[in-house]
Amino acid sequence: LENFPYQQVLVLGLAKSGTAAAKTLLRNGMKVRVNDKQLSEKSTIVQDLVALGAEMVLGSHPLSVLEGIEIVVKNPGISYENPVLVEAMKRKIPIVTEIEIAYQLVPELLIGITGSNGKTTTTTLTTSMLQESNRPVKVAGNIGIVATEAAENLAEQEALVLELSSFQLQGTIAFRPNIAVILNVFQAHLDYHKTLENYKQAKFNIFRNQTEEDFLIYNADDDEIEEQVKTARAKLIPFSTTKKLEEGVWTDGTSVYFLDEKVINLEKIVLVGNHNLENILAAVAAAKLAGATNEGIERVLTTFTGVKHRLQFVDKVHGRLFYNDSKATNMLATEKALAAFKQPTILLAGGLDRGDDLSELIPHFKHVKGLVSFGETKEKLEKVAEEANVPIILNAENVEEAVKVAYEHSEENDVILLSPACASWDQYRTFEERGDMFIQAVHKLL
Ligand code: ADP
Repeated sequence: LENFPYQQVLVLGLAKSGTAAAKTLLRNGMKVRVNDKQLSEKSTIVQDLVALGAEMVLGSHPLSVLEGIEIVVKNPGISYENPVLVEAMKRKIPIVTEIEIAYQLVPELLIGITGSNGKTTTTTLTTSMLQESNRPVKVAGNIGIVATEAAENLAEQEALVLELSSFQLQGTIAFRPNIAVILNVFQAHLDYHKTLENYKQAKFNIFRNQTEEDFLIYNADDDEIEEQVKTARAKLIPFSTTKKLEEGVWTDGTSVYFLDEKVINLEKIVLVGNHNLENILAAVAAAKLAGATNEGIERVLTTFTGVKHRLQFVDKVHGRLFYNDSKATNMLATEKALAAFKQPTILLAGGLDRGDDLSELIPHFKHVKGLVSFGETKEKLEKVAEEANVPIILNAENVEEAVKVAYEHSEENDVILLSPACASWDQYRTFEERGDMFIQAVHKLL
């Protein structure tokens, strides 16, 4: 940690990332105080850290934890309204998240990927493309693997691909990926960032410290991102699904091109949906810049069926194509899923009733030949389907029954799509559980 000029560090909030950061800092000889509200002295995590020399303050957040502190490493989930952070800001003590430490530990090549939507898909694609090209690589970050831990265990030549949330990026000072990706910036997380402007600025932190040696891959179909990246020093690599970009990555409707080189035919790609094509273009650019081969990229794009529960191709059963988009917990996501298909589609939808006006879905029902609804919004969705003149309108008790009902009313080459447009909590603990029920029910049809 030669470029981390702080000796007295407060780690605020333990969890997995705080624990990893504290351990790394302690191993590098820094004085670490840990403040956590929930953990008790008896927990093994706490005992481990004490054994390594950490000072623990547990049970509350007294302002005295800032005594002598030069920098705060906060858990991304902790609000900036936390009294310790408010006081730290007053005293001008810098506040970072654990990715700032991870950054210091990457010897070779760091790829950072952010955006409101598509992060996990693009991160997974980029990592797989490098793996399939025999380029040593690890993946971590918001995808569920602690960045510091992954970074500390990198081999010399190994690259690190980080999925980055706006929460993580808000807390950065020197953080500088060699290759940065900005997919899109929609309105989100305003409870945390307070204003849309703050949220956007956090995302744009991904390129603030980049230099002429670095690359910034960005969505050139988004005017605002185009405007913002003008202040970047990195080499700009735009991507677009709508226009030819000889300085970037683009498609002519038949193939994907990186600069002036043809990379792959579109018809070989398994993933569906224009939003996924954006993710693919961004991943191709990042992977190519990091040394991936066209063969490696092709191996991924001809086999990758999608991240689980995100418009994931599940199986073809007796000629019907089953897709699991359980992550679609709002109408916008379901609209995108429906737009991904031209074939006759039977939609499985429903769930927690948040009082949304579900009739916004009607314009997207053109090729929907059937609706099978379930959950709290069952009746509301049936009314919407009637209004949209959907030929087959049915309901079911749950996702499992919905799969059976949909199958019975389907024909060969139909798409049967779970994209609920609602949260799962009326019937399932998580959207993952709901998607797993779908997958199991599909496999029972085999
Ligand atoms: P994240 O990790 O950012 O949440 P995911 O890759 O997990 O993103 O995708 C989550 C959902 O976001 C998908 O099911 C899809 O509905 C939507 N999505 C994915 N990629 C994009 C994109 N490039 N633009 C808009 N929406 C997208």
